[in-house]
Amino acid sequence: MEHILVTGGTGFIGSHTVVELLRSGYDVTILDNLSNSEASVVDAIEQIAGRRPALIVADLLDAAAVNAAFDGAHFDGVIHFAGLKAVGESVQKPWWYYHNNLTGSLNLFDAMAKHGCKTIVFSSSATVYGPDNPSPYVETMSTSATNPYGWTKVMIERILTDYTAAHPDFCAVLLRYFNPIGAHPSGLLGDDPNGIPNNLMPYVARVAAGQLPKLTVFGDDYDTPDGTCLRDYLHVVDLAKGHLSALEYAKDHTGAEAFNLGTGNGISVLELINAFMKENHIDVPYVIGPRRDGDLPGFWANADKAKEVLGWTAKLDVNDMCRDAWTFIQTPKD
Ligand code: NAD
Ligand code: UDP
Repeated sequence: MEHILVTGGTGFIGSHTVVELLRSGYDVTILDNLSNSEASVVDAIEQIAGRRPALIVADLLDAAAVNAAFDGAHFDGVIHFAGLKAVGESVQKPWWYYHNNLTGSLNLFDAMAKHGCKTIVFSSSATVYGPDNPSPYVETMSTSATNPYGWTKVMIERILTDYTAAHPDFCAVLLRYFNPIGAHPSGLLGDDPNGIPNNLMPYVARVAAGQLPKLTVFGDDYDTPDGTCLRDYLHVVDLAKGHLSALEYAKDHTGAEAFNLGTGNGISVLELINAFMKENHIDVPYVIGPRRDGDLPGFWANADKAKEVLGWTAKLDVNDMCRDAWTFIQTPKD
């Protein structure tokens, strides 16, 4: 039995990952400051997995609290989800993003080093490929960013790469997520952002549920087959399982290694809306609006490395993603 510390484990991707960890026999402790999630997520996790993770409500910016978590238990590894993730907000509040994401991560890495914990799986992002690389993105491409959020991902990857170079017994698996959507099929866990969603799928689901009047499609004049942007959407349950593959990999590897977690397919905004309407037999009213600042026309993964090295591939399709997102929004929340 291994014990994994999951920072940000009550969040969207973290909660789905905790379910998969518990189901696979890991013990789990979540550390989260609940700035973008609810403690009640732990009840939903227990309901699905049949086992309850421990929850430490603490902020990664509180170095003493992070060390206390390590003093209280032996962790065989850490999966590090905790961070702020809204691109637009990061442009408005860069210091806050750098402080939360970088200082928080450094406090975590410091506590790991002090307590002899030598395995980390880090939530990176396809955003690290920057604006200039052609798709499909391959792990060997250069990294850069166009906003403070993206730079925090580039910088944390760099910090972990430098740390593993200096400490050759340390393993850092850098998982570059593409666009995770969908929800747990039980309807108990999903993406439930506070306020008006920034991301496409939660927006579509709220329009379908009548909670928002209509969706605005941000631009239909891109150089893509139907003029709307292409993204590599993957089901959050598939993504969660990728973290278990990463932990397995870390058992007999050291060093820092990056992996794309995506399907390898680009889907347009209009294709996603149409799939949602068809799968769920529900209308999603939309209008075409102007482009959103900073949006790239299209990017998707080359997912070969994750398949060959981690033995991971995405199994669920866009219809599964649409069905489960719809089930989630229709499930009453306490
Ligand atoms: P989320 O906001 O649902 O989860 C993040 C969790 O971290 C939240 O529960 C929040 O309360 C917690 N947190 C934030 N700052 C903290 C701090 N200082 N101390 C303790 N807890 C803190 O986000 P998510 O969608 O589950 O994303 C998880 C990770 O994956 C993030 O690092 C994000 O940048 C990365 N990522 C997400 C996406 C995506 O589309 N959702 C894509 C690529 C990468
Ligand atoms: N999008 C849209 N309307 C919305 C939200 C998003 O048309 O209300 C588009 C957006 O322009 C992008 C795609 O949907 O082309 C995915 O956006 P999201 O914010 O979910 O992911 P990201 O842009 O971060 O990849």
